[in-house]
Amino acid sequence: MTSASPDLSVARRRSELERSASETVDVLIVGGGITGVGAALDAASRGLSVVLIEAEDLAFGTSRFSSKLVHGGLRYLATGDFATARESAQERHLLMTAIAPHLIRALPQLLPLAPGLSLRQRVAGGAGMAIGDLLRLQARTPHATLPGPRLVSRRRALDLFPALDARGLRGGMLTFDGQLVDDSRLVVSVARTAASLGACILTRVRALRLRGDGALAEDALTGERLDIRARSVINATGVWAGSLDESITVRPSRGTHIVLDGADLGGPTAALTIPHVGSISRYVFALPQLSGRVIVGLTDEDAPGPVPQVSQPTEPEIAFLLDNLNRVLATPVRRDRVLGAFAGLRPLVDSGGSSTADISRRHLVAASDAGFVNVLGGKLTTYRRMAEDAVDLAVRLRGLSAAASRTASLRLVDSPTTGSGPTTGSGPLVPGITLTRGEVESAVRAEGAMTAADVLDRRSRVGLVDADRARLLEPVADLVAALLDEIG
Ligand SMILES: Cc1cc2nc3c(=O)[nH]c(=O)nc-3n(C[C@H](O)[C@H](O)[C@H](O)COP(=O)(O)OP(=O)(O)OC[C@H]3O[C@@H](n4cnc5c(N)ncnc54)[C@H](O)[C@@H]3O)c2cc1C
Repeated sequence: MTSASPDLSVARRRSELERSASETVDVLIVGGGITGVGAALDAASRGLSVVLIEAEDLAFGTSRFSSKLVHGGLRYLATGDFATARESAQERHLLMTAIAPHLIRALPQLLPLAPGLSLRQRVAGGAGMAIGDLLRLQARTPHATLPGPRLVSRRRALDLFPALDARGLRGGMLTFDGQLVDDSRLVVSVARTAASLGACILTRVRALRLRGDGALAEDALTGERLDIRARSVINATGVWAGSLDESITVRPSRGTHIVLDGADLGGPTAALTIPHVGSISRYVFALPQLSGRVIVGLTDEDAPGPVPQVSQPTEPEIAFLLDNLNRVLATPVRRDRVLGAFAGLRPLVDSGGSSTADISRRHLVAASDAGFVNVLGGKLTTYRRMAEDAVDLAVRLRGLSAAASRTASLRLVDSPTTGSGPTTGSGPLVPGITLTRGEVESAVRAEGAMTAADVLDRRSRVGLVDADRARLLEPVADLVAALLDEIG
């Protein structure tokens, strides 16, 4: 296994791009979402040489639009999917105890015993508490990592979520799950860890055609075509997988979140779980973030037709989320208090079912007719397992000699520390928004950011709030340009 710096920069990209065009690597991975970077890490951890190409930027696709939960899989039991539920709980355990405890915290989640909750919903909530704890126990996750479930008083429920309507409230059911500091941060950390083991992570390189032994690709910065030769190839392009293998039919489902100011909800310290009217398996969640924002999600809408670069939330989806949240609040949140909204497309594999909510969330790993491996479906929480399965198949299919996967106990690298060059600084770039010059600098020098959008939308999440993004766009673009000039 090669030991290298985890730092990604435009200079490293340039030299690795040249090398990739002249050498044959063991594994070429296409797609720099969580699945692709996970596969890059898995393969590099086995001692294989790895090149990953991503058409845009790390975490450009679905991986930055999730609910940011590392969940125990309880919701999969609602559709009888025991294997996925167990796998989720097991992967959550590994992530929270060994792989990324620095990127995940235990999030309390409150199901309020509000007047609108039916008896069926109460019973389902109680059963969920018990079964969720069984999944935790089965995975051997200690209470110190994820506290056990409990009933809480009305007073405690209001402490945890102060904006709840106190009228008729009879307390709540409290459970705990994992929450990422940020989903795109997880992707960047996995990519940097893979780079530290020698993997070449090349953003802004698009695969045009895949073969079993390589790909025709295009450098988006120069328009230059390159032929990358590899002993095995893994297609990890999520909802775009069908564009590289037409035998795959992805059935995208759009999930929308809105972004609120935590202060409008009294500064909650727990997430809120609100069952859809009449349902015991579908919920709206209000999830407090470390930034002080609260994201409220999520929808599940069939999104047929051509896959857009970035999916857009619709007004009816935003209204649906607000309506469900407002059912349990003392004072409704109005549309003009919504600071931003974002939507992601679930890469569900089409199984011919009637609704996307019924399609299995388990992942698919299969060989294509052309001899490359397709990996898609699943979710953020199970990326490590998906990656291991995909690399196992690539190794078997192409007769590579490789060690066993080491990722179950491989800790991800921390965020880069900021440099000490002339542009370093710790103060915010504009008053009232926390992004500092130092953070922009480490995004460019060590996390592979090349544009203001990379910094605002993927290395930090300032971009989730429209007004903040607009204020920062110009100063960040100037700073990024100065840094790129300096790096050369
Ligand atoms: C709304 C929503 C909420 C979710 N919440 C959670 C959650 O809380 N917890 C959880 O565990 N999971 C969650 N998921 C699921 C999870 O987000 C996805 O399963 C996961 O992010 C998919 O990652 P991926 O790497 O397969 O795809 P992507 O992140 O989409 O990555 C694919 C990448 O391939 C690149 N690409 C495409 N074509 C090419 C090409 N030709 N050449 C090179 N690169 C290319 C794209 O630019 C993209 O970056 C959620 C999903 C959605 C939609």
